[in-house]
Amino acid sequence: MMFTIRGIPTAGIAVGTAFVLQRRASAAATAAAGDPVAEAGRFHAALERAKAELSALAEGEAVFAAHLEMAGDPMLAGLVEGRIAEKHLSAEQALGEACEEVCGMFAALDDDYLRGRTDDVRDVCARIGRILSGETAHDPFAGLAPGTIVVADELAPSDTAQMDFSRVAGLVTAHGSVTSHVAIIARNKGIAALVGVAGCMRQVRTGDRLIIDGERGELIVDPDPATGRKYAARLESLRQDAFRCAADAQAPAVTPAGRRITVLGNAANVDEVRRALDAGAEGIGLFRSEFLYMQGPALPDEETQFAAYRAAAELCGARPLTVRTLDIGGDKALPYMHFEPEENPFLGWRAIRVSLAMPELFRTQLRALLRASAFGNVRVMFPMIASVGEFRAAKAVVETCMAELDAEGVAYDRDIALGVMIETPAAVFIADELAARARFFSIGTNDLTQYVMAADRGNPRVAYLCDAFDPAVQRSIGMVLDAAHRAGIEAGMCGELAADPRATQRLVALGLGEFSVGPPAIAPLKHRIRTDK
Ligand code: PEP
Ligand code: MG
Repeated sequence: MMFTIRGIPTAGIAVGTAFVLQRRASAAATAAAGDPVAEAGRFHAALERAKAELSALAEGEAVFAAHLEMAGDPMLAGLVEGRIAEKHLSAEQALGEACEEVCGMFAALDDDYLRGRTDDVRDVCARIGRILSGETAHDPFAGLAPGTIVVADELAPSDTAQMDFSRVAGLVTAHGSVTSHVAIIARNKGIAALVGVAGCMRQVRTGDRLIIDGERGELIVDPDPATGRKYAARLESLRQDAFRCAADAQAPAVTPAGRRITVLGNAANVDEVRRALDAGAEGIGLFRSEFLYMQGPALPDEETQFAAYRAAAELCGARPLTVRTLDIGGDKALPYMHFEPEENPFLGWRAIRVSLAMPELFRTQLRALLRASAFGNVRVMFPMIASVGEFRAAKAVVETCMAELDAEGVAYDRDIALGVMIETPAAVFIADELAARARFFSIGTNDLTQYVMAADRGNPRVAYLCDAFDPAVQRSIGMVLDAAHRAGIEAGMCGELAADPRATQRLVALGLGEFSVGPPAIAPLKHRIRTDK
């Protein structure tokens, strides 16, 4: 029997079959909580399995022999045991803390080789952590049928990183708002989404036929034939519109008054860079580098990152590739990295704050980016900047990396542009001071809106406040553009507002000259700029 559940209008239309994601209790939750003997036993069992895996791998690869040695080092086991016994931590938490302590010790050593071994320590700990959490064999999205609509309480970027989007027609979540990551990912992939659908986990079962109406904010369960036909026709007309806009997608976007507007793409990986350029992007305005960190079992090393940034830079050629440095924390976790639980994660340890607190991790990324800058037009921007001091500190780390590369005789772009993401009210108020130091701004309206309005971007109950059209947010944008123009630096926008059809003319009128949007939004945006609609 057909029924409808309301959610927050998000993106697109989809017709498909439900897969309802039931989370397994994590190994940490099922372990005898607070029982140090049980936790120590779990740790040792995982350690032994990690050593067995490593000794099999060590036969072919010297690096794994070194990892085996690290796993067997009594210092690591001792630190983990100590934390379990004294602080009553779970095995996973104790391992995370011990890992950071060992890395800290290595990083402080006066020996370049040993200092460089922190990636290996993290890799070993990630292996043990993976075994501990029992995640090795479990991919909840394996074997999805084409046309699946995934229904979940919540979907984190680390969940969507595992999905094969050629089989996913849409995403439905009980939590979230228009700027939560699940909504952004759906728009970037060109699939439908509905968030804030309270009750979807109770009312939908795997195998149900579903229609997502992301324009009206409705999830239709078990549609009758007439409703099915209506939405099939709507999908067809959307396809034809997209086809019409795509015809002149590669041509520049010039307003009827003759003003040239730059349209860049948002991407999370090299494949999406290619898709954005094919869709008409004049470069990349936001490369969300954290997705590179979500693909493997451990932090990606310098070579892995360099290969990805270089490939993206080469695809862009002379066009800009704007890479945002690691933006984790808030709602973006790395499965292999331990984060202390925080009362207010979005106000806590995230983005540039993490990078500045973990200089080794930051240096690895910056070295990879600088090396890639020799192969294209790479720009680097820092997320969540709240003070001039943070920008200065980040710039100083870039300069240290430049000096290292000079000493090693490695090529990079000495004139690489460093920019600031404007995502905090603090950055808005000091935009003039930041503009005097940075080469460009990029306005991240998703975070800026949640911070200006003090309304969590993932909480559907305050979604009515988390509105980028609110005068407070619009004034902030105007202030930032004015500060940038006065200082003569470029200011773009890479938050979701840039792709919102209702905002295009308003933003052009405010003086925005550079939009950065997900690949499916590029052609329609250029069309709106040209036609003044
Ligand atoms: C933003 O906050 O607007 C932004 C582009 O960054 P993210 O959505 O990845 O936090
Ligand atoms: Mg942001």
